[in-house]
Amino acid sequence: MTRTRVLIVDRDEPEPDLIAEAAVVLSRGGLVAFATETVYGLGAVATNADAVRGIFQAKGRPSNNPLIVHAADVDHARRYAARWDDRAESLARRFWPGPLTLVVPRTASIPDVVAAGGPTVGVRVPAPTVARRLIERVGLPLAAPSANRSNRISPTLAEHVAADLDGRVDLILDSGPTAVGLESTVLDLTAEPPRVLRPGPITADELSAALGVAVESGPVATDPGRLASPGMLPVHYAPKTRALRVPTVAELVAVDWPERAGLIAFEPLPEGSIPDRVVRFVLPDPVVAARELYRALHDLDARGLDLIVAVEPPAGAAWDAPRDRLRRATTPHR
Ligand code: AMP
Ligand code: MG
Repeated sequence: MTRTRVLIVDRDEPEPDLIAEAAVVLSRGGLVAFATETVYGLGAVATNADAVRGIFQAKGRPSNNPLIVHAADVDHARRYAARWDDRAESLARRFWPGPLTLVVPRTASIPDVVAAGGPTVGVRVPAPTVARRLIERVGLPLAAPSANRSNRISPTLAEHVAADLDGRVDLILDSGPTAVGLESTVLDLTAEPPRVLRPGPITADELSAALGVAVESGPVATDPGRLASPGMLPVHYAPKTRALRVPTVAELVAVDWPERAGLIAFEPLPEGSIPDRVVRFVLPDPVVAARELYRALHDLDARGLDLIVAVEPPAGAAWDAPRDRLRRATTPHR
């Protein structure tokens, strides 16, 4: 692959010539990283199987892990669904553009490689103007997983993408930090009742309220070899540094702190609970935690520490997505 170019683009009023340039790269089968409201995505034209294979190659992603397809608006998304019922329509109208992916039966124009061979496609409409202008300009939906190497931390800044994928993607559109910071909620509408396959910024309770039926959550038993939602792999999003988690701040006293260590917590730390030398991120609000979690992990990981410790987020649905990602990034302390 050639050198990766970075174009700085205005988040609110993206320069039309820059969008056009990125669209040409995509139309020719290339890879362009761009910001969605969740994390930076690594985009390719979703209907071009060869281009999509390039995503798997660049990420080192296992081919049984399906990709989310990003559309410009509800009408555009609907074209790629073989069935689009009242539930899909009402959720799309209510939450799009936004961080909700709907898993629906796919049409033949979505290639197997996007769907990891399954009969469904995960679609959503991203919020940022840059993302939607890009999709509109290409005129086709974009398959875009997170723009990181497989099993690394998802990128919330263009710099994270460059550090991980330099030389492996054609272009990075840098429009600044992502607003939400955690991957979308994935809702399987082919299940009865609908099932949250991956917790995210929109909670199961919000979806239940919108649908008027209780949605379920968590993995389903599927054929061995095919993952229901590979975003649910137990180890994922992990820093390179050894990373442990403790259930509560009270347990921090039991940690044997090396000289160089970092901490992520989601509530204020009791006086004297950790040594002064520990680099810390305290994120006591779920919205802030979602936005800053990956940034904190990237920051700590880049310091070459000997240990990162995270305290599990408190109970409550608002913390489900940060708790889920943190569990995948860390292993239990003792
Ligand atoms: P990412 O890992 O950030 O690339 O996000 C893609 C995730 O979306 C996958 O790991 C799945 O969890 C989910 N997903 C996408 N398409 C489907 C699908 N057809 N069926 C189930 N889950 C899907
Ligand atoms: Mg990912």
